[in-house]
Amino acid sequence: MSDYRLQGAIDTLKESGVRITPQRHAVLEFLVQSMSHPTADDIYKALEHKFPNMSVATVYNNLRVLKEIGLVRELTYGDSSSRFDCNTTDHYHAICESCGKIVDFHYPSLDEVESLAEQVTGFNVSHHRMEVYGTCPECRAQTAH
Ligand SMILES: [Zn+2]
Ligand SMILES: [Zn+2]
Repeated sequence: MSDYRLQGAIDTLKESGVRITPQRHAVLEFLVQSMSHPTADDIYKALEHKFPNMSVATVYNNLRVLKEIGLVRELTYGDSSSRFDCNTTDHYHAICESCGKIVDFHYPSLDEVESLAEQVTGFNVSHHRMEVYGTCPECRAQTAH
């Protein structure tokens, strides 16, 4: 499954005409394989041993390129650092308040909320985000002891 997604992502990258550097490939591969919505720092730490000359700035630069092509979504959370998501299909997030883990879940897209919001506010709504917060199974297991 993730190999298939990775291949699809690499095809998109090729079609966009963006150069596929080893780092860019590795960043994309890491994002496709980790379902954890990592921060740029997480990606940097995971790939540091493979690319000793790579900097956090390089990771950010690669993420920006992947974002521009539409392969990656950036999730910003106030002042804490951004999380990156390579699942660009419509989905929602459950966020653990204890460890910060973000898990995808699917629910029919709330289009009617967008149209209602447009009617009520006069906005031209481009998209929406929905998140549920709580404690993940792993954190719940830890506090149970
Ligand atoms: Zn947790
Ligand atoms: Zn996600």
